[in-house]
Amino acid sequence: MGAIVAIVGRPNVGKSTFFNRLIQRREAIVDAVSGVTRDRHYGKSDWNGKEFSIIDTGGYVVGSDDVFEKEIDRQVELAIEEADAIIFMVDVETGVTGMDEDVAKLLRRVKKPVFLAVNKVDNAKRAEDAVEFYSLGLGEYFTLSSINGGGSGELLDALVEKL
Ligand code: GDP
Ligand code: MG
Repeated sequence: MGAIVAIVGRPNVGKSTFFNRLIQRREAIVDAVSGVTRDRHYGKSDWNGKEFSIIDTGGYVVGSDDVFEKEIDRQVELAIEEADAIIFMVDVETGVTGMDEDVAKLLRRVKKPVFLAVNKVDNAKRAEDAVEFYSLGLGEYFTLSSINGGGSGELLDALVEKL
C-alpha cells in the first residue's frame, strides 16, 4: 500500500481545486461558497514516479462558528492519525485567520511531515504577501496557485521526497 497524503485547512482555501488537479479527474466537488456538507474524497496520484493516495478533507457542516471549528479540528485529527504526510492549505487572499492559527496549533505537535501550502498565489505580488504565514510557526511554506498550477511542482517535489 502506498503512502497517504491528506489536505487539510479551513473551507474555501482551495483544497478541492488542488486535489482535482492532482488526481486529474474530477471527483471532489468544488464549492464556490464555503460551508456545504461534503464527504472526504480519496484519489490516487503520482509524482516523480512515486504513487500515493490523497485525501481531500471537507465535510464541514455550518451550524455555529463553534461547530464549524470543531469539525475542522476533527478533520485535522483524523488526518494526523491516518496520513503519512499532511498538506496544510491556507489562502493568501484572506491572509492568516483565527481558524488557520487553531489548525497550526494542532499541526505544530505532529511528528509527520507537514507542508504549509499558501494557495491562490496567482502572481508575483501575492508571493510577497505570503510572508505573513511565517507567523503560524510551521517554518518554510510553499506558494502555489491551484488554479493555474504555478508552484505546485515544488510542493510535490518536497512532498514525495518525504514519503
Ligand atoms: P476548499 O473549500 O478548500 O475545498 O476550496 P475549493 O477548492 O472549493 O475552492 C474555493 C474557491 O477558491 C473556489 O472558488 C476556487 O475556484 C477558488 N480557488 C482555488 N484555488 C485558487 C487559486 O489558486 N487561485 C484563485 N484565485 N482562486 C482559487
Ligand atoms: Mg473542498
